[in-house]
Amino acid sequence: MSKRDYYDILGVNRNAQGDELKKAYRKLAMKYHPDRNPDDTSASEKFKEVTEAYEILSDPSKRTAYNQFGHRGVESSGFGSDRSATDAFNDVFGDIFGDIFGGGDPFSRQRRSNRGSDLEFSLIVDLENAVKGTTEKIRIPTLATCGDCSGSGAEPGTQPSSCPSCNGAGQVRMQQGFFSISQTCRQCGGSGKVITNPCRKCRGNGRVEKTKTLSVKIPAGVDTGDRIRLSGEGEVGPSGGPSGDLYVQIRVPSHEVFERDGQHLYCEAPISYVDAALGSEIEIPTLDGKVKIKIPEGTQTGKLFRLKGKGVKKIRSSAVGDLMCRVIVETPQKLDSKQKNLLRELGSSLKDKKNTPMSSAWFSKVKSFFDNK
Ligand SMILES: [Zn+2]
Ligand SMILES: [Zn+2]
Repeated sequence: MSKRDYYDILGVNRNAQGDELKKAYRKLAMKYHPDRNPDDTSASEKFKEVTEAYEILSDPSKRTAYNQFGHRGVESSGFGSDRSATDAFNDVFGDIFGDIFGGGDPFSRQRRSNRGSDLEFSLIVDLENAVKGTTEKIRIPTLATCGDCSGSGAEPGTQPSSCPSCNGAGQVRMQQGFFSISQTCRQCGGSGKVITNPCRKCRGNGRVEKTKTLSVKIPAGVDTGDRIRLSGEGEVGPSGGPSGDLYVQIRVPSHEVFERDGQHLYCEAPISYVDAALGSEIEIPTLDGKVKIKIPEGTQTGKLFRLKGKGVKKIRSSAVGDLMCRVIVETPQKLDSKQKNLLRELGSSLKDKKNTPMSSAWFSKVKSFFDNK
């Protein structure tokens, strides 16, 4: 469908500026506003069209692009979307009509006034369960449908009566200047009904406090900050309104052995001076149990050994991270005199450069540094 010219849509000439544009737009927007034409889809289309035209023409850079390239000039960058149209609408009307139209977005406005609140629950999941996935039982205080009145709020055996303010229509018409608009009735909140005999258990609210027990499936790979949404598990709405959602906020506390960084796990393992020098095999922990790794001869302290696939699986993916184990060479302490003598003997035999390449290289660097002074 080819689009109409923005100047034609607003009925202004090509030199129209500021106030003239605003006036033209305001007049048309009032005429086609969705709240004034509740069942007329062509009016809502027109409303979008005029709002888009105003949005483009009131913005100097978008207007220049439009003047030069036509609709193509403003479409590729996503201008004229409902979102920016709404911004333009709020720009002109937010101050004047904010409280009449109830603010908000006229394009996606739904009657959400009786929807229940969302709930948030903070759940601590230990690292093992976060990595492998689990099901946790949680207990949350919430508002549930009143059993006595089934959420209607009316005392059992009685019926809500027609609202006297709107005569059951749920909407009232208001005269505002030279036009009238319909607005949700304040007394009944749009339901058209009022409760004359409120339910004694819930005092007419339709809801009662209740502690609910839920099983929450925690997918493998969750981490602190992840949020699981359980649709419809929040508070039930007043007067039988729809339920809100429950958000389970995950927190994974730090672990005694492993440190997590995204998909990777880190741990440290002490090894003896002798094992580091001669080489050996040590056992290190993983989340799936112990694993043996080979320590080659002459291993230095701080060396990182990578165990592929022993880290954390990504949520909704088969990619698995690694476990990185850092070995720390432990210097022996509280030696007796025999042990000290053995080490002294060893020490005096370690004069050859090939035994201590790191020290030899370091000393020669330091020496040349001082010689060149
Ligand atoms: Zn009740
Ligand atoms: Zn009413």
